[in-house]
Amino acid sequence: MRTLFLNPPSYAGFDGGAGARYQARREIKSFWFPTWLAQPAALIPNSKLIDAPADDLNLQEVIQRAKGFELCVMHTSTPSFDNDVKVAQALKKAYPDMKIGFVGAHVAVLPEESLNAAPVLDFVAREEFDYTLLEVAQGKAYQDIAGLSYHADGGVAHNPDRQLIGEMDALPSVIDVYKRDLTIENYYIGYLQHPYLSLYTGRGCPARCTFCLWPQTVGGHVYRTRSAQSVIDELVRAKALFPQVKEFFFDDDTFTADLNRAAEIARGLGKAGITWSCNSRANVPYEYLKTFKENGLRLLLVGYESGNQQILNNIKKGIRLDIAKEFTKNCRALGIIIHGTFILGLPGETKETIEESIKYACQLDVETMQVSLAAAYPGTELYRQAVANKWFDESSLVRNDGTQAAAIRYDHLSAQDLEAGVKRFYSKFYARPRPILRMLKAMAKDPAERRRRLREGKEFLNYLRGRTDKPESRIEEPAPEKEKVAA
Ligand code: SF4
Repeated sequence: MRTLFLNPPSYAGFDGGAGARYQARREIKSFWFPTWLAQPAALIPNSKLIDAPADDLNLQEVIQRAKGFELCVMHTSTPSFDNDVKVAQALKKAYPDMKIGFVGAHVAVLPEESLNAAPVLDFVAREEFDYTLLEVAQGKAYQDIAGLSYHADGGVAHNPDRQLIGEMDALPSVIDVYKRDLTIENYYIGYLQHPYLSLYTGRGCPARCTFCLWPQTVGGHVYRTRSAQSVIDELVRAKALFPQVKEFFFDDDTFTADLNRAAEIARGLGKAGITWSCNSRANVPYEYLKTFKENGLRLLLVGYESGNQQILNNIKKGIRLDIAKEFTKNCRALGIIIHGTFILGLPGETKETIEESIKYACQLDVETMQVSLAAAYPGTELYRQAVANKWFDESSLVRNDGTQAAAIRYDHLSAQDLEAGVKRFYSKFYARPRPILRMLKAMAKDPAERRRRLREGKEFLNYLRGRTDKPESRIEEPAPEKEKVAA
């Protein structure tokens, strides 16, 4: 079947792909690459990938571009599910013969509920879905495809689970799909140089953080990796294909989970003169950091989460504050930039621990940082705790303008307290002289950087002024049939 992979339209600027840990509109314009869709797209000949939010496509435009496809696979998530169903309904209305399926952690955890909530879907592909989708596209009978759930006999049928992929080198590269279907200049992440390009070199994370979605749902707790040489070869090819890219980002849950392999890849990239960055835990020893830095590492994206040790223990982070401080000091000494991420509202949070985290972040003084609200997604231990303890607020994971909402609250800490905490966190961190000076220096060096920082600064101030912008839906009612055909 001619297959369309679709990251569906939603709110303007909504980053809904699996690369986004918290699907929402960001404080500043941000889009991760839709790598989880690009991977099966690379497996299926003659397919196409459309990333509607990044390309700023509305529903009508997507419907026009979907013409001629027999199968459409959409990546969904808990906060975007209802919106994505509306997109599926509009596609089915326009093309009644098109088969439509959803993938992603939400349907992997709740296949029956998802299919019951969305009769428009033909199937959902659970677990790792790459080969499941290949078999669907090849026209194999649904009942013979492992990992598939589908409507059958007035109910829902679930086939046996699909095993996790062991041979990662067998998966084709996603960069050819990027080249064919994406405009890479449309992808921004505030702390990465622009344009950047991100991909995975492995899946799964051995850590057990209770809030973290991917390892507990789709990726698993074994870090399954591609060989170092295949990663180096791919990056060398990517550099030739995308000479404009300033930085390559390894979006593996934790690229540093296998330090020796990471060092081997680093040495290969160093020889090729490639600038790279990656996700990392705050516990990488100095000698590895040094090897990475000497071989092109620019930035680490580090999940510090909280400045309170008890909260880190509560969420099974497996990191000590003193180790994280030492790691941060080492990075600074070596000239490795850190973007630190924090979460407010995790179990054990109080007004006092919020202040502790703010103070901790200021002490660490990482280059840039972001603060998210704790989000309990189905399939995670945090979700089960939140259900058992009735921590859920009535609000959903995103507000009606697409920004993140505090879905968890406690008797002693309201959703409003948490949202105010996020703003105070940003204000206290960024209103210090050092971050301002860093920003000014970067802007003085490079006119393109100046333009970008001014835009982001404006967006950020708008965010601080209020999360209540007018909703900007990109899924307004489709145009009449006649207009669509003419287009
Ligand atoms: S280390 Fe990072 S990727 Fe791994 S489980 Fe914890 S939060 Fe998730």
